[in-house]
Amino acid sequence: MTAVQSSAEDHGGDLAQKPQRRGVLRGSSLLAVYVPAVVAVHLALTVAGLVSTPLRINDLLTFSALLACGAVCIEASRRLGMPAGVARDLLSAWWLPVALLLPPVYALLIPIPLQALLQFRVRRTLVYRRLLVMSAHGIAGACASLVFHLVVPEPLAGTPQWIVDVTPGIPVAVGCAALFTVVISALVAIAAHAANPESRWRDVLWNRESLLLDVVELCVGMLVAITSTLSLGLLLLALPPVVLLQRSLMHQQLQAAARTDAKTGLLNAAAWQREADTELSRSQRTHDPLALLLIDIDYFKRVNDTHGHLIGDQVLVGVASTLCGQLRDYDVVGRFGGEEFVVLLPGADTVEACRVAERLRGRVRRLAVPAEEGTVAVTISVGVSLFRMHGEDLIELLAAADLALYRAKESGRDRVCLPAVDGPKAPGG
Ligand code: GH3
Ligand code: MG
Ligand code: MG
Repeated sequence: MTAVQSSAEDHGGDLAQKPQRRGVLRGSSLLAVYVPAVVAVHLALTVAGLVSTPLRINDLLTFSALLACGAVCIEASRRLGMPAGVARDLLSAWWLPVALLLPPVYALLIPIPLQALLQFRVRRTLVYRRLLVMSAHGIAGACASLVFHLVVPEPLAGTPQWIVDVTPGIPVAVGCAALFTVVISALVAIAAHAANPESRWRDVLWNRESLLLDVVELCVGMLVAITSTLSLGLLLLALPPVVLLQRSLMHQQLQAAARTDAKTGLLNAAAWQREADTELSRSQRTHDPLALLLIDIDYFKRVNDTHGHLIGDQVLVGVASTLCGQLRDYDVVGRFGGEEFVVLLPGADTVEACRVAERLRGRVRRLAVPAEEGTVAVTISVGVSLFRMHGEDLIELLAAADLALYRAKESGRDRVCLPAVDGPKAPGG
C-alpha cells in the first residue's frame, strides 16, 4: 500500500458516510466513472496478457512461490487485524519481484488473489476501494514489468546476469520499482481527489512517513527479487523477516490508531488523559506550575447546519492543526469529544496560561476554511484552570476548566475565562 492510499481511504470513508453534500456528490459521480475505468483497464490488460503470453513452467513456479509467500504474510498477520482506514503493509515485497522477474501478465494477476485474501480474511472494506487498490497494483506492476523487460528480456534465464552486471540490471530494477510506486500513488491519488474535490493535491500526494515506508517496501521487494532469482528455495529465508516486519508494522499502526483521534490526528480522550496524568505527577514531584485549557468551538452546530458535516469536519481539522501549530512540543493536546479540545501546559502559571489561551483564540479567529459559499470562520471559548489553585488532580482540574468554559460561553463566547467567580479574567474575557 502506498502513501496516498490512506488518504483515499479517509476520503472514501467520508464519501460513504455523508453523501448529502453537493461537493461530495460531484466527487461521487467522478468516482463512479473513474473506478470502473481503472478496473476495466486492468481486466482488459489481464485478458490481453493471458492470450499473448506463452505458459512456461519456470514462470508458473516462480509466480506460485511468490504468491504463496504473500498469502503466508497475510495469514501470519491476520490475527493482529488491520487498523481502519489507514493501513500500510509490506505486500509489495512479493508483487514487485513478480513484476520484475515474470512477464507483465503475472503482475496483473497477483493482486487479484492477494486482495481477495485481504478482503475476506483480514478486513472487509468497501468493494470499490478494494477493486481500485487491486487494479492500481496490477496496472502499476504491469508498467514496471514492461519497462524492465525491455532492458532485461530474460531475468530468470541462466546466470542472473542482471544482478552480476553492474549495468544495467540493478539500477533499472530500482527505477522500475520506483515507477511501480509512482503509478500506484498517481492512480489512487486521483481517486482520493475525486472523492473529495476540495482536498489539495499536495495533501493527497505527500506524506513523509508513508513515503519512507514506500522506500522500505521498495528495498525489501528488491531483496526478495534478487533472492528468488538466485533460487526459489531461498524464499524460505526471506519469508520470516518479511513476515516479522509486516507484523511489527501492523502492530505499530494499531497502537498509533488506538491513541489517536482519526479525524484530527490529535490524541484521543483516553490517550490524552494518560499523558496528562504523567505530566501531573511530574509537576507534583517538581513543584512546577501546570495549567489546563478546555476549548470549545462556538456555535459549531451552525457550521454543520449551514455548510454540512464535511465542511464541519474540515473546520475541526483546521482548528486542531492551528492549536498544534501554536503549542510547544511538550504541551499535551487532545480532542476531548465533538468540537471540544483540551490542552495541558506544563510549566505554565496563570499569566502564561491566559497568554497562550488568548493566542490560540486569536489564531483560530483567523482560520478560513474553504467552503462552496466562500470561507467558514469560527471562534472558540476557552476555560483555564491551574494546578493547585483550582484542583489537585486531573478530574478537579477538568471540572474547574469546564466551569470556566461555561462562564466564557455565558458571557458572550469568543473569550478566555478562569473558573473563580470573582477571579481574574483574561483580556478578551
Ligand atoms: P456552543 O457555542 O454553545 O458550544 O454551541 P455549539 O453549537 O458549538 O454546541 P452544541 O453542543 O449545540 O453542538 C455541537 C455540535 O458539534 C453538534 C454536533 O453535531 C457537532 N459535532 C460533534 N462532533 C462532530 C464531528 O466529528 N464532526 C462534525 N462535523 N460535527 C460534529
Ligand atoms: Mg461542546
Ligand atoms: Mg461548541
